[in-house]
This record gives sequence, structure tokens and C-alpha cells, in this order.
Amino acid sequence: MDLAGLLSFLFFMTDLTGKRIAVIGAGLAGIAAAHALTSRNAHVTIFEKSRGYGGRCATKRWQGHVVDHGAQYFTLRDERFKHAVQQACGDAIHRLELPIRDEENRILGDTGRWFHRDGNSRLARDLAKGLEVRTETPVEDAPALLQEFDHVICTAPWPQTAKLWGLDEHEIDYIPCLAAVFAYRGDGLGRTQETYAFRSRSTPLAWTACENHKPGRIAAGSTVIVTHLGEAFSREHLERPPAEYPSLVRTWIEDRWELPKTAYDLALGHRWRLARIDSAHPSPCLPPRVHFVGDAFKASRVEDAWLAGHEWAAKNHLMD
Ligand SMILES: Cc1cc2nc3c(=O)[nH]c(=O)nc-3n(C[C@H](O)[C@H](O)[C@H](O)COP(=O)(O)OP(=O)(O)OC[C@H]3O[C@@H](n4cnc5c(N)ncnc54)[C@H](O)[C@@H]3O)c2cc1C
Repeated sequence: MDLAGLLSFLFFMTDLTGKRIAVIGAGLAGIAAAHALTSRNAHVTIFEKSRGYGGRCATKRWQGHVVDHGAQYFTLRDERFKHAVQQACGDAIHRLELPIRDEENRILGDTGRWFHRDGNSRLARDLAKGLEVRTETPVEDAPALLQEFDHVICTAPWPQTAKLWGLDEHEIDYIPCLAAVFAYRGDGLGRTQETYAFRSRSTPLAWTACENHKPGRIAAGSTVIVTHLGEAFSREHLERPPAEYPSLVRTWIEDRWELPKTAYDLALGHRWRLARIDSAHPSPCLPPRVHFVGDAFKASRVEDAWLAGHEWAAKNHLMD
């Protein structure tokens, strides 16, 4: 077979014209998979239960502020992801300039930490341009989708996917994370002028970051701090109402950032029941024509979730 023959054979093998594919979830993995399959001529429909895009790459509009309460920033290490982000978002992507410090106050290495000017969930929205996405459409009867679609690709965290198909939800364990967001009166308070975030592996205050370092996000005259609690603490307090989380950790925040207690304004809590995995997993067994893709294949990071979806859809022939 000559080169032209080989290329047309490969195209025939990977062309998905006429295939109807449902993707459950408009997070980074679902959007990446949908794009890769659409580029092979499949007809792809994404079903998303929430109002917005992005899943755990989430942004909240709160008290005049735009706050990332899920993924805080993303990396652009892989050329394919970088290219897709630059194409989709243009100049809306910015780099975090100030450092992250550890418990000992040492500055952590930085290969580039990026955020979307309008909120990190907008990264997902921009990447989904041109795709058919049905928001506020939770899939409740997943097997019924197989009557309408040739394949169903599930990108909800495994315990949610497993429930949809009556499978063992404990096959992949996800670690929970409690989040608390604090607003203080005044700009540039305490250590927020010289540090973007503190990360700790040995204290419950696993992550605490100042959102003011994402320009245009925080209303004038306020300092906003996002905090993620570590695994042990999150498991211990998981079933408490989220509104109680800030009061559990407020003193630590004020000590860590050297904030004046009198400047405290208000706070909110958020429960991430299925926040992240601790290591990559192989795909569990699923019914024919059903597939599972997501950050569980690689690492719980925005870039890895996108790569998981992109690579899976580029490799998988879905010819049956
Ligand atoms: C608190 C927190 C902090 C993080 N910080 C960072 C960070 O700083 N940097 C970084 O790179 N990564 C971070 N991550 C990890 C990153 O956000 C995730 O790895 C990534 O967003 C996962 O993408 P995904 O597409 O695999 O899954 P998800 O984002 O979970 O997407 C799944 C989608 O499926 C939808 N869905 C679920 N069930 C249904 C249903 N029945 N019907 C329809 N839709 C459904 C969900 O609404 C969701 O939109 C963080 C995560 C959390 C929780």
C-alpha cells in the first residue's frame, strides 16, 4: 500500500461519520473528548446537570467578587493543551505572578500557573465553543441513552458514574475537600501583598490563596481568601453543613495571612464530596458501548483531565 492509500485507510478507520455519541459531563474531560470525536465527524451531544460548564473547575459569583472555589489555576505544560487553550481563550488567560509558599515559608517551584480572567469555569466554556451542550440536563436513566446513541461516554467522577450503571461505586475512591471562602474589608491586607498562596502537606490548612492576585475579580476595598482543607480534616467534618466550615478554620486563616481580626466581613463554605483521586486508575469494567473517562485516568488536575479526554477520544476507534 502506498502512502496515499495508507492515509485514506487510516482516515476510514478513524472516521466516525454517522455515529451518535452522548457525553455525560461538561467538565474538562468531557469537553476534550467531545472535541476530539467531533473532529472525526461524530455527532456528539454533551449532557451537563449544572447550569454552567467546568465541573470541578468551578467559579462562584459572590458579593460582587468572582471566586474560583474549585480549581485555583491550571498549567499549560502540554503543547496540545496549550494550543487548544490559546485558540479558545486568546488573551483572557493570565499568569499568576506571586509565589506559593510552604509551611516553612519557602517559595515553591513554578513552571507557570494560569487562570482565566473571567473565572476558571470560563476556560471550560471557551473550550466548548461549537459543541452541542445541554446544560441543566442531568442524566438520570443512563441505559436509556443507549437506545438513542451508539456510545455513551461518562466523565462524572466514578462514584456518580457507577451509580448511573448500577456498578460498584467504591472501585475508585475519591478524596473529599472542604472549601471556605473569606472576605475581609480592605485591600492588600497582611501577607497578601507578597504571597499568592500557602500550601501545606502537614496541617489541615492544605491550601489558602488570595484571589486578589487575579486582577479584576475582587471588588475594590476587599481581600478574598480561598481555603481548601486537607484530607483528614475534610473527612472528619464532611457531613457538617458547609455554612459551618469557615468558623472551624477562620483563626488559622487570620494567623497564616496575618490579617487583622477586626477586618473580617463574611464567609461561605462549599463541600467537594468527590474532589480528587490519589493516583491514576485503569478504567473499570462497563457495559458494551459505555466508556468512562476523566481525571481518574491521570491526575486530578485541569490539564490532566483535558488530556485524559483528548487522548482517550483520539485513540479509541468506537467502530462497533
Ligand atoms: C477543591 C478543588 C481544587 C482543585 N484545584 C486544582 C488546581 O488548582 N489546579 C488543577 O489543575 N486542578 C485542580 N483541581 C482538580 C481539577 O478541578 C479536576 O481534576 C478536573 O476539573 C476534573 O475534570 P473532569 O472533567 O474529569 O471532571 P469534573 O470536572 O468533575 O466534570 C464532571 C462533570 O459531570 C457532570 N455530571 C455529573 N453527573 C452528571 C449527570 N448525571 N448528568 C449530567 N452531568 C453530570 C458534573 O456536573 C461535572 O460538570 C481541583 C479540584 C478541586 C475539587
